[in-house]
Amino acid sequence: MLRDEGCVNPPHPAPDQVRQMKSVVLHAPRDLRLEESAPPPPGPGEVAVRLAAGGICGSDLHYYAHGGFGTVRLREPMILGHEVAGHVAALGDGVTGLSVGQLVAVSPSRPCRACRYCHEGRPNQCLNMRFYGSAMPFPHIQGAFRQVLVADARQCADAEGLSPAQAALAEPLAVCLHAAGQAGPLLGRRVLVTGCGPIGLLCVLVARAAGAAEIVATDLTAFTLALAADRGADRTLNMAEAPQALGPYAADKGYFDVQFECTGAAPALAAGIAALRPGGTVVQVGLGGDMTVPVQSLTAKELSLRGAFRFHDEFFVGVDMMRSGRIDPAPLVTQTVPLARAAEGFDLAGDRSQAMKVQIEF
Ligand SMILES: [Zn+2]
Ligand SMILES: [Zn+2]
Repeated sequence: MLRDEGCVNPPHPAPDQVRQMKSVVLHAPRDLRLEESAPPPPGPGEVAVRLAAGGICGSDLHYYAHGGFGTVRLREPMILGHEVAGHVAALGDGVTGLSVGQLVAVSPSRPCRACRYCHEGRPNQCLNMRFYGSAMPFPHIQGAFRQVLVADARQCADAEGLSPAQAALAEPLAVCLHAAGQAGPLLGRRVLVTGCGPIGLLCVLVARAAGAAEIVATDLTAFTLALAADRGADRTLNMAEAPQALGPYAADKGYFDVQFECTGAAPALAAGIAALRPGGTVVQVGLGGDMTVPVQSLTAKELSLRGAFRFHDEFFVGVDMMRSGRIDPAPLVTQTVPLARAAEGFDLAGDRSQAMKVQIEF
């Protein structure tokens, strides 16, 4: 359901004189509304970004379809979205290095830079993180799906040379670069990626770029597996058609050095652990709530189980990798919908049989 709250002011204001903008606000599961408000001017150190593209992420979908995930619940209306890119429309005082009209990818990672984890160099674990579109804290942290986003200049990565669609993929790419960091060296390694949604697919791309010798990807749908094969997976396995397809890899204590677990589903974790060779590493990227872990195999094969959660510096690394052509995630975008049809985009994004990454055009 999408309810347009009605237009208040001129429909086509000049870029530097935006008086009204629309935001994508979720009020309750499937109650998504486009709401008008006046964008604030950028303060010192801030920029106003006129959004061009915004990707719908798994977490946005959980809020949209179920009102949250795990213990995280939507308790007040919240603007969704955190995968965004746009053009700089105005600069606040003291901003250097950015110019009006420039395409930027905006990092949703906003750590406080003052807590103990920020000081330890783990900003992704910040105690006061203000990650866009998160209902973890209350009041919720409002998201980035608004036509004009006022952001700190230091959240903005220069994305000149990329398309807005590519630039808006910087956030999921950063998640996977962070996960790769947790995996350790990938050069010459055999990599298993369980789950081929956008994150799994980007893990395939990152593992390929990092020199993995062999990449096997699993999923439950033919559509996503075809994309994985096209994007660099050496072999794809459809676990819906052949649930035991990883079985042969468990022979002689296992085959893979690294598993990127992107489903958050216990059977995928268990099948991966059985297929990991002694000394291997599982990187748990998918958020699935509490999962059963085959601890006996971890012990006996001396496996490492590592979490990977969000990112920080990797956002800027990823944008540079895209700009230099070392990684191109653009083919992940399977559909683009205009802002007026945002709710349709959310419905589409939830359908894994035909959508990988759906983006909204602002
Ligand atoms: Zn995301
Ligand atoms: Zn902090």
